[in-house]
Amino acid sequence: MYHTKTLAELSAMLEAGEVTSVELTQSFLDRIKQFDGELNSFVTVTEELALAQAKAADKARASGKAGPLTGIPIAHKDIFCTEGVKTSCGSKMLDNFISPYSATVVEKMRDAGVVMLGKTNMDEFAMGSSNETSFYGPVKNPWNTQAVPGGSSGGSAASVAARLAPASTGTDTGGSIRQPASLCGITGLKPTYGRISRYGMIAFASSLDQAGPMAQSAEDCALLLNAMAGFDSRDSTSMERDVDDYSASLNNSIEGLKIGLPKEYFSEGLDAGVAKQVDDAIAQYRAMGAEIIDISLPNTHLAVPVYYVVAPAECSSNLSRFDGVRFGYRCEDPKDLEDLYKRSRGEGFGAEVKRRIMVGAYALSAGYYDAYYLKSQKLRRLISEDFSKAFEQVDVIMGPTAPSTAFNIGEKTDDPVSMYLSDIYTIAVNLAGLPGMSVPAGFSNNMPVGLQIIGNYFEESRLLNVAHQYQQKTDWHKQIPEAFV
Ligand code: GLN
Repeated sequence: MYHTKTLAELSAMLEAGEVTSVELTQSFLDRIKQFDGELNSFVTVTEELALAQAKAADKARASGKAGPLTGIPIAHKDIFCTEGVKTSCGSKMLDNFISPYSATVVEKMRDAGVVMLGKTNMDEFAMGSSNETSFYGPVKNPWNTQAVPGGSSGGSAASVAARLAPASTGTDTGGSIRQPASLCGITGLKPTYGRISRYGMIAFASSLDQAGPMAQSAEDCALLLNAMAGFDSRDSTSMERDVDDYSASLNNSIEGLKIGLPKEYFSEGLDAGVAKQVDDAIAQYRAMGAEIIDISLPNTHLAVPVYYVVAPAECSSNLSRFDGVRFGYRCEDPKDLEDLYKRSRGEGFGAEVKRRIMVGAYALSAGYYDAYYLKSQKLRRLISEDFSKAFEQVDVIMGPTAPSTAFNIGEKTDDPVSMYLSDIYTIAVNLAGLPGMSVPAGFSNNMPVGLQIIGNYFEESRLLNVAHQYQQKTDWHKQIPEAFV
């Protein structure tokens, strides 16, 4: 019965002594055992470690040293390095990799007293929108196990949707927190680029990657962000800037809030059932006193093409470290060094990762750099400027998170372009480095729909406030798929 509670409720129960962290942790471990055979949302369950951490959390609480997250169990996406625990990034390349250190996000969570239940399944090296590129097989969507959970943080999203964990961490390079949150009916926040340290988070596209919380509600995301955010001297792109108390402004009134609706986010390609739910959500905001303003982000159509030059270019460089020499997969009996490189990479990486490395290496090559990479960087600037102009007029921007609800497993695997279009509304936000959220906004054909809320730089507090106010008036975020109640 603990699984029906939000993180904020569990925190209050721990504080009141109604449950111990050991009991709580055990109950989620039991649910993982019961349900995850089918869902496949975890790559690794760290049962022993979790119970040891839970014991320590109970002890800390008994001696008066507890914060709001002390003793709360969560799951980490398998992209975050975890000391002494396998960190696979969803790849055969790292199937044998036991990280010698922990990512800053993991350390910060541990310092806050959070218990780690395990590591969640994901698209290989975070490249994908459906979790089907994982070496460990696809994750199932708890709302319909024929359907994908979205990706790349699909394991994190599915585990929270099925309440196998009260919350999880994710990362978002082009939509990987928001799109799976939308497809699984949970709340996810991608903060401003630089708000959370990338140290120890396995790099995909370094100018886009950002970690964030995935949870049941905006209130829970705020609690997690309080612990995750902050400057880190080990990440040169981390911002030296004060961290807000993200829980403090949740209850602010949103009367007079100016919401921009970009016409490009409501055009052809958007599923009618999704559009209906998003319209209803906007109507709800209007009823709460917000002002709705039509805006335009004219370079929206460039976001996906620009991303599929910039992200592969950066990934081809980042993934060159996986060479079969220092760590990770090494082929059997290499003939010579070249054979070692070629076969280790050839056998260790899956098809989508190879496709991106090849595209990226091509775009960066001497003859094509100006035509592709440099050009994309210029267009990226135009995309950012669209948002800057919009934020002169409005406080937040709203629209759908994804163009459709969850599609079926196998439906898009042979058509990479249609798969890439799953992120058509999320990718521009990463290119601009802005914060964005996905909030459950109802169902279409019994599958969850997400409302996207985009804010100006470092306005996470405002996003969480805007989302929380909606969640005070609606109960979409409280729905649990029938098989997991
Ligand atoms: N689906 C996008 C991609 O495949 C975004 C992934 C992500 O945000 N990590 O690149």
